[in-house]
Amino acid sequence: MSKYYLTTTLPYVNADPHVGFALEIVQADALARYHRLLGDDVAFNTGTDEHGQKIYQKSVEAGEEPQAYCDRYAAKFDGLKAALNLTYTRFIRTTDAHHVAAAQEFWRRCKAAGDIYKKQYRTKYCVGCELEKTDSELEDGRCPIHPKLPIELRDEENYFFRWSRSQQALLNHYAAHPDFVLPDFRLKEIRNFVAAGLQDFSISRLKAKMPWGIDVPDDPAHVMYVWFDALVNYVSTLGWPEDAANFAAFWGTDGAPNAVQVAGKDNLRQQSAMWQGMLLSAGLPLSKQVFIHGFITADGQKMSKSLGNVVNPYDLVATYGTDATRYFLLGAIPSYNDGDYTKALFEETYAARLANGIGNLAARVTTMAGKFSGGASPAKAEDRFATQALWTRYRDALDAFRFDDAVHAVEELVALCNQAIDVEAPWKKAKAGEDVGPFLYQLLEALRHAGLMLLPVIPQAAEKLLAALGVDASSVRLPRDAAWGLLAPGTKIESGVILFPRLDANS
Ligand SMILES: [Zn+2]
Repeated sequence: MSKYYLTTTLPYVNADPHVGFALEIVQADALARYHRLLGDDVAFNTGTDEHGQKIYQKSVEAGEEPQAYCDRYAAKFDGLKAALNLTYTRFIRTTDAHHVAAAQEFWRRCKAAGDIYKKQYRTKYCVGCELEKTDSELEDGRCPIHPKLPIELRDEENYFFRWSRSQQALLNHYAAHPDFVLPDFRLKEIRNFVAAGLQDFSISRLKAKMPWGIDVPDDPAHVMYVWFDALVNYVSTLGWPEDAANFAAFWGTDGAPNAVQVAGKDNLRQQSAMWQGMLLSAGLPLSKQVFIHGFITADGQKMSKSLGNVVNPYDLVATYGTDATRYFLLGAIPSYNDGDYTKALFEETYAARLANGIGNLAARVTTMAGKFSGGASPAKAEDRFATQALWTRYRDALDAFRFDDAVHAVEELVALCNQAIDVEAPWKKAKAGEDVGPFLYQLLEALRHAGLMLLPVIPQAAEKLLAALGVDASSVRLPRDAAWGLLAPGTKIESGVILFPRLDANS
């Protein structure tokens, strides 16, 4: 059984989950489900990033102990599991005792490699990003991502990570693995950044100024910089360093890397250069691949608390349901670029692509089975929809994190079925006494294929569709079940299956 490991980034617990993180975790969930269908043993990690100044300040503002504050927010993120029907196998919190010990061990290894040193430094810092900023990264002296937050000037003695040392190794790695970062324009972006030179960065804070972090080994006056601690979660979640076998199986080895990371475009540097540099220093294999998704705007604007336009995934699920929310994120938001949420687009996606798309086809075809073949599958007929080519497109799309194109492949099959129904006019033919059995088989079998392809995307509806066709979704294996003609003649078909009820006019 192949091992498949993937992880999201860990969101900071300084705000409620918003739809941008929902996008990331639903993308990861679709990959996890797809790989389970392929028979892989999947480890799927997510969790919460709980240290650092930003969270410390928020907990102070809320009048709470930092740990109690983190506990409350971590529960809000873990609640996405039920709301979005997620199948992650591990929810790590960077305040977990095992993670704390692993981050300290990681530090010791980088130090032993000669990559950690102490120096006095003066820098500009955005607490919103928890990152140092150079003057060229600021606009009017402010962080472009957090224009409301003042840039802090820091002047203290810190530990530094010798990131500069990994420059050539990273460039070599990018050159040797052209799909290390996808989409390819993101690889180009990070290659250019690394080629311009890597600056060593501070990896500690004075505990007297900011106590909410993991203690630096052998120096109680300092806590670790939040990024240095948090990035280690990708390996600590696998039981590293103690559980070497589990770590090697899922994370992979130098010759056979196995770890897939899903991250937003604001995380490009941290995931594909900073973290990889840390892995090199600690003597651990690099990730296999980093997929970078875009941002979601709301009505064309950046979402922000002050504008009051933050789209909450829990609200979408409460109004439209889990599957509709997943379908919008995977099928209506471009996988490689930024996307826009509007209520109109969401409802149009629901109506045109779900209710009138796969939903209507499923209702039509299963109703025909009830009328024309006694509620059972007729004798087999050949594939008129070239489903194997659609499967190739679908698999290529998911292998390249093109969730939108995978959804388009299913929608193309639905469109082909609808066109064929218009051409064949089976209701008219049946009335005239012609045999519509072969055509009905083709439609039912096409529905089975659509149901299989939709399992990673809209699991509840896909399971319901497959159940109506007598297929137990829990026993599906790809690519075996993607062959044409596996729907056995005589299979009982549930008539008139409803997958997506029409939206209430006043919702
Ligand atoms: Zn910022």
